[in-house]
Amino acid sequence: MSRAWGGDGGGGAPAGTAGARPDEARRHNRAALLRRLHVAGPCTRATLAAELGLNRSTIKAVVDGLAEAGVVTEAVPAQRNGAGRPSLMVLPEPEAAVVLAIDVRVEQVAMAMVGIGGQVLGRHSWNLHHRTRAPGEVITHIAESAQLLADELAVSARGAAVSVPGVVRRDDGFVHEAPNLGWRDVALGTRLAAVLRIPVQVANDAELGALAEHVRGEAHGVDDLVYISADRGVGGGVIAAGRPLRGTRGYVGEIGHLVVRPGGRDCYCGNRGCWETEVGEAALCRALGLPEDTPRGVIVAELRSLATAPLPGPLDEFAEWLATGLVTVVNVTAPDLVVLGDLFTALPPAVVDHVRTQVHERSLVSRAVGGTRIETSPLGRDAKLVGAAELAFEPVLGAV
Ligand SMILES: [Zn+2]
Repeated sequence: MSRAWGGDGGGGAPAGTAGARPDEARRHNRAALLRRLHVAGPCTRATLAAELGLNRSTIKAVVDGLAEAGVVTEAVPAQRNGAGRPSLMVLPEPEAAVVLAIDVRVEQVAMAMVGIGGQVLGRHSWNLHHRTRAPGEVITHIAESAQLLADELAVSARGAAVSVPGVVRRDDGFVHEAPNLGWRDVALGTRLAAVLRIPVQVANDAELGALAEHVRGEAHGVDDLVYISADRGVGGGVIAAGRPLRGTRGYVGEIGHLVVRPGGRDCYCGNRGCWETEVGEAALCRALGLPEDTPRGVIVAELRSLATAPLPGPLDEFAEWLATGLVTVVNVTAPDLVVLGDLFTALPPAVVDHVRTQVHERSLVSRAVGGTRIETSPLGRDAKLVGAAELAFEPVLGAV
């Protein structure tokens, strides 16, 4: 269970490795134990020893050290099994290390202070309009809101991470393009780090959706998955063999810009017939007979009003395009699981069933594995925020 997603949580030298220095081994064990508690919750020392493959005296030394630093406590479990002396549970202290998670969406910014164990200590959000969407405005508002939240909760964040619906260079948090926000060439990571005065990481929203599902959502325990984000635009985050799939300089692929319909609608990316032009929010509005700028709440209400089965007529073609893109995504990435996020979580079950069947019938990979699992996200609108918190925690847990 000490498996870590990226970062340094699982990459250090294991305890007892020949040549590993004792302090390195201690640091590694401490980070692995804390990560286990953070992801999977409180448990006994015996469970920690079994799951981390460490002997009891090592576990005792690590737990005692963390307890002394106020990072964990030990308590008698509420429910006792059988007679005899109960095993103490090791619990993380949420406020011992807090991170700031920020999700910049097209119409709203959401932020949360999150403690160890994933506990949301406090949150805040505000709507974005044409005028307030400028990068400088957003950065100022984030800094002010973060300060208010910190004061209110009497905590200070050790690090922050930001989700952005755009093309982000992970190396330095530079936003190359976020077309639906109207952003281009924004040094977001550097500028936010300067005003927040803590380390800031910036990542593509779909990548963080994938991370969130992997750590705390539908894909917990699944190491090969694709998360499809569907806000104004459509994106994809891929985790392969437990690691995020990124390319040159930390950029992630743009699954929404797979060309599925040559000669189709113009896309802002310069291409025509991109998947996003057929299954993005505007396409969904067209399918439902709504204006393309219909507010999100109205779109969701309209979707919920449709019959859950059989496949609702207005969504016939939409479901077809969703399946067509996913067949290619599954053929290229061979995931165990595809998680449909955001707006797609409001699709009637018959649409998801149709897509599932189509992918199974039309994808070689899906047929080979007996049907790729396709599910909607249980984290819904919070997925990017949860993912941002987990990204921010990666370096923090190793340094507590
Ligand atoms: Zn495109």
